[in-house]
Amino acid sequence: MRLPISLFTLTAAGTTAFVPLPASRSTALSAAVNGESAKGSTAEVTTKNDSSSTKKFHYEYIARKARPHFDILSRTVTDKDVPLIYLDSGATSQKPGAVLEKLDDYYKRVNSNVHRGAHTLSREATSAYEEARDKVSSFINAHSRNEIVFTSGATEAINLVAQSYGRTNLKAGDEVVLTVAEHHANLVPWQMLSQEIDGGLTIKYVRIDPETGCLDLKHMESLLTEKTKIVGFQHVSNVLGCINPVKDMVSMVRDKSPNAKIILDACQSVPHMPVDVQELDVDFLAASGHKMCGPTGIGFLWGREDLLNSMPPWKGGGEMIDQVTLEGSTYLPSPSRFEAGTPAIAQAVGLAAAIDYLTSFGMKEIEAYEHELAEYLYDQMKQVPGLTILGPPNGKQRVALCAFTHESIHPSDLSTFLDMEGVAVRAGHHCCQPLHQELGFSHSARASLYLYNTKE
Ligand code: PMP
Repeated sequence: MRLPISLFTLTAAGTTAFVPLPASRSTALSAAVNGESAKGSTAEVTTKNDSSSTKKFHYEYIARKARPHFDILSRTVTDKDVPLIYLDSGATSQKPGAVLEKLDDYYKRVNSNVHRGAHTLSREATSAYEEARDKVSSFINAHSRNEIVFTSGATEAINLVAQSYGRTNLKAGDEVVLTVAEHHANLVPWQMLSQEIDGGLTIKYVRIDPETGCLDLKHMESLLTEKTKIVGFQHVSNVLGCINPVKDMVSMVRDKSPNAKIILDACQSVPHMPVDVQELDVDFLAASGHKMCGPTGIGFLWGREDLLNSMPPWKGGGEMIDQVTLEGSTYLPSPSRFEAGTPAIAQAVGLAAAIDYLTSFGMKEIEAYEHELAEYLYDQMKQVPGLTILGPPNGKQRVALCAFTHESIHPSDLSTFLDMEGVAVRAGHHCCQPLHQELGFSHSARASLYLYNTKE
């Protein structure tokens, strides 16, 4: 991970001019990353260049094992052919060979439409697609495969809830509690729904506690009433990097707002840690496949089966019907009722391969490694003069994601300068404009890591 070193160089120069330095790679690590000395899978790596003298990276074997599976990570960028350091996994993750091969194999050998044909290819495509549903179901410990609705991503999953559950069950004056930290995907659908309802909804936003840098849960408690019908929040913030205490938040909602349904945006948690819907006890959960080593164009909504079956379809067409006459139609139960038209079959198959890939490391192990990375990233960035890191400090639960601003360099310039060194970080509002406004910034730069990033 060259980012901190580059930034340090940048600020140590005492000017806004960017001074690229060769990355000071640890030879042992570098060799290990390149597979030269990766003996055994549980090697412990000791490094000596952080502030707290010596730090052990128990789980770095994960990155060493993973990196060779991602061809893209060995490419070079810019006209100087510098090695790529990909620190933008919060936006989308890279895809391992196992996923790419599965997609290739699907299109070369199986490609057909699902649920519609008795021929071999159609049967095979249907099994592969439905097996993908089983994979997702057990990955998040759903009660039943019928609780998994494939969508194009988390955005579509949340829109489904707003347009189906929301339109049917919310009326003027009902309250929706969201947080200022929400991604636009969990803000705009509710604002759109409010506009559609004559008289509108009352949308309230949980603020950030300036002391902790996390959601202000006392404020949340004060917003919840018996009129609250929807509570929506992220599991992990894509800007603040904090892990929200979902279970505490859920019990607060159940206590104060028994009529509310809870929707969890799990985009930034499902790829990085074990997520168990039964344990979290929310009502809906949304996630995107492309952030968890899967292809773009696939994600899923989880909801309890009885709840999903109580909701009307939000898109009509083939695949979702029971009977159609010229007078009207009846619909299949979940998940089919929400999957009108030809689904993203290959993408679902690719997502299943991604889940196999992640589980081959173990989600607990990935979480443990990323926890080490998170601490290291924060500690290193904290040492850079002039940087403000958004979100809570180490000690609070953080993921390996840091959004930051610099006192004299615009985030877009930072991102461009870093790109010249091969370091891919994101600059912008990260689809969280209200959060940035709340924090007093228009934009930030963001480094977001995944299992294939090393400390280096
Ligand atoms: N929520 C969060 C927290 C996200 O990070 C993202 C993606 N940036 C989304 C929702 C939307 O995901 P998608 O664009 O894949 O639908």
